[in-house]
Amino acid sequence: MIRILTIFLAACLLGSCAAPSSFILSLIGTNDVHGELIQKPDRGGLVIVSGYVNAVRKARENDGGAVLLIDAGDMWQGTLESNLTEGESIVAAYNAMGYTAAAVGNHEFDFGPAGPAPIPNSDTDDPRGALKQRASEASFPFLAANLIDQSTGEPVAWDNFQPSVLVNVKNVKIGIVGVMSRGALTHAIAANTTGLIVAPLAETIEREAQALRDAGATIVIVTAHAGGKCVDFNDPFDTSSCDLGKEIFRLAEALPGGLVDHIFAGHEHDGIAHFVNGISITTSYSRTQALKGLTSNRIPPSLLSPIKQLNSRLQ
Ligand SMILES: [Zn+2]
Repeated sequence: MIRILTIFLAACLLGSCAAPSSFILSLIGTNDVHGELIQKPDRGGLVIVSGYVNAVRKARENDGGAVLLIDAGDMWQGTLESNLTEGESIVAAYNAMGYTAAAVGNHEFDFGPAGPAPIPNSDTDDPRGALKQRASEASFPFLAANLIDQSTGEPVAWDNFQPSVLVNVKNVKIGIVGVMSRGALTHAIAANTTGLIVAPLAETIEREAQALRDAGATIVIVTAHAGGKCVDFNDPFDTSSCDLGKEIFRLAEALPGGLVDHIFAGHEHDGIAHFVNGISITTSYSRTQALKGLTSNRIPPSLLSPIKQLNSRLQ
């Protein structure tokens, strides 16, 4: 459920030496956490994930680097400790862990209006009430670039929802775009998604990523609640074990070269740590289960994503 991508940043940007000459940026991605807060026999829960994140933060602190923690959606549906609070406990945990941004998954709509009713009972009930409340509590943005409000024809503009975000890490600008699967809303309660449609991923990302580049982004990351599957992780450039017909691979193939650097995927609950069309893609199963190796203080080699050198873009 977690992947780490280490990017070595080098050189001062545009001749400005306000940024350090080089630093290590660790990107940590989670997906399909599905409300797993506590450790269980076959999964770590956010308590174990947070320990890992803290360890990486400490390592980056010691070497002058930085960490971005990004989620790819389906954060809170699935456990008693989350569902009893309609995901409030998960957002509190994400806030404590210092997430940078999160994509919106299909299960984010499951709780309907705020309160016990799972779907609206009257015209005054907001079918997205619980989701909006969670977003208002979050100290990180919910990214939904291709979730379109049919009444405006534009991405939803609810409080703390936005298509993308540009973050500044040690004077290096990093853009993050969030999208969901084209079929996401067919896997959600229809009464809670009325008036919403999902726009095609590739053209949405292309537009947002270009805008981020124009705004100075050196690195562009996509967090996508859309997925795929590979089964062999020995060689990140060997995609022969991957189902390349799956949505996230078709997306990577459709994007212009050099526009997007990394994709955090989700939704399918499978594993990916591969390059497609020059873009590294990672996803890490679901429910924090891929972290169980940490109980022996060892990260399985299969969990380590490719290391990508971005020096050339920075010079
Ligand atoms: Zn999903």
